[in-house]
Amino acid sequence: MSVKEITKDRKEIGADIIEKAFNFASLAHEGQKRLSGEDYMIHLFEVARSLSDLNMDTDTIVAGLLHDTLEDTKVTEAEIEKEFGKNVLFLVQGATKIQSIENKESKATSHKTLMKLFLATAEDIRVILIKLADRLHNLRTIRYLPPNKQKRMALESIKIYGPIAERLNMGDIKGEIEDLSFPYAFPGEYKDIINKTRQYFDESKTYAAQIKPKVEEYLRENYINDFKIDSRVKHYFSLYKKLSKLKNNLDAIHDLVAFRIILPDISQCYAVLGILHKKYLPLPKMIKDYIALPKPNGYQSLHTTVFCEDGRIVEFQIRTKDMHEHAENGIAAHWHYSESDKKGTHAEMKELEWVSKIKQWRQASQEEDPKDFFDSLKLDLFKERIFVFTPDGDVKDLPLGATPIDFAYSIHSEIGDRCYGAKVNGKLVSIGHQLKNGDVCQIITSKKQKPSLDWIKIAKTSEARSRIKSILKKG
Ligand code: MN
Repeated sequence: MSVKEITKDRKEIGADIIEKAFNFASLAHEGQKRLSGEDYMIHLFEVARSLSDLNMDTDTIVAGLLHDTLEDTKVTEAEIEKEFGKNVLFLVQGATKIQSIENKESKATSHKTLMKLFLATAEDIRVILIKLADRLHNLRTIRYLPPNKQKRMALESIKIYGPIAERLNMGDIKGEIEDLSFPYAFPGEYKDIINKTRQYFDESKTYAAQIKPKVEEYLRENYINDFKIDSRVKHYFSLYKKLSKLKNNLDAIHDLVAFRIILPDISQCYAVLGILHKKYLPLPKMIKDYIALPKPNGYQSLHTTVFCEDGRIVEFQIRTKDMHEHAENGIAAHWHYSESDKKGTHAEMKELEWVSKIKQWRQASQEEDPKDFFDSLKLDLFKERIFVFTPDGDVKDLPLGATPIDFAYSIHSEIGDRCYGAKVNGKLVSIGHQLKNGDVCQIITSKKQKPSLDWIKIAKTSEARSRIKSILKKG
């Protein structure tokens, strides 16, 4: 475990400050152990190393080393700010806030709500990347947890962290998160898949090794010399999802092993597609042009499924080096974005709002000073929503400006009708009080209470308003 393994040969990051953070964290966590028996520092080291692998900036790596100090040690916010500055403190605070949400999580909270809450709380995309790196290491050591915690962490990872990684187009991390969680989240299904597919996997791997040189030779015959070809084995969890859709018909899965061909530019990608189709007959409807029409998360590649050597069905994925990097590291690939990708695509597409935001960030990263770029990476996707907890830790998703009246009606219409006041974070407030993100709200009811005309002004949700109106109509 050395700082050099984190900083590697990356000249653009601050090795001194990373070393300082490393020593600071070692001291703060001194004597603390992981459940595995290892020093706690191993965890922080691994998180920082993953972040550096993703080419993250110095502040994020430093925050990765410090991400558990506020929660688990005597270190104060003031100390972090004094030693490492406002930005690092902001990132550590973000990671700590998300941790406290996870600790509060109850069975009543849906994973969907939790994901929104998570994203709303993160505020900055780098906080999410720190949490992904944190989760990844916790999953790599999940075997040391007690069984009930294993199950909970595994399910939460599949429902929340996997989809977040996917939306950020971080295919590698998504696959690893899901595969590490799979045996603990769905043990029976996992065993089943392993038993069913082991033989197929082994066979497919042998076959891939045999035909790889043949494909390489064929490409060279066609004057394609500058390429890289890899075979990729499908992740178990994504195989499981696909098999469930295909009613467990393993023969219908053609991408158990797929070839990936990486080329210098887009025109060569299309050229290689044509060259492959000249020799290997493609399956109808299996040609996908995600270069012209990228997936909503920004993924780009050409996919084709063909009858390859010996008539076996094989999938090919053809893409440029930049596209490949985006497919593996997703949003993190921006951090070392270069001028090379101006070629771009010609396709206009409808996108989710926040995907277009990612695109804006990409463009901004080419034009702005990197410092400004990082500062602008605020996640305001859910800024118009707030998340408020019940005393039991259940969470309600409400619009900005919502009041205890809205909260009460979101629990139950009867509770809304009888809402008399509320305690927010232990303090008495009026029914018109504006709730804030992360508040814990307890509704006080009175049997004598009933909705009145001024409640309509106080209520923000349509659910509450329509209920109040209907009660008022009845008189
Ligand atoms: Mn941690």
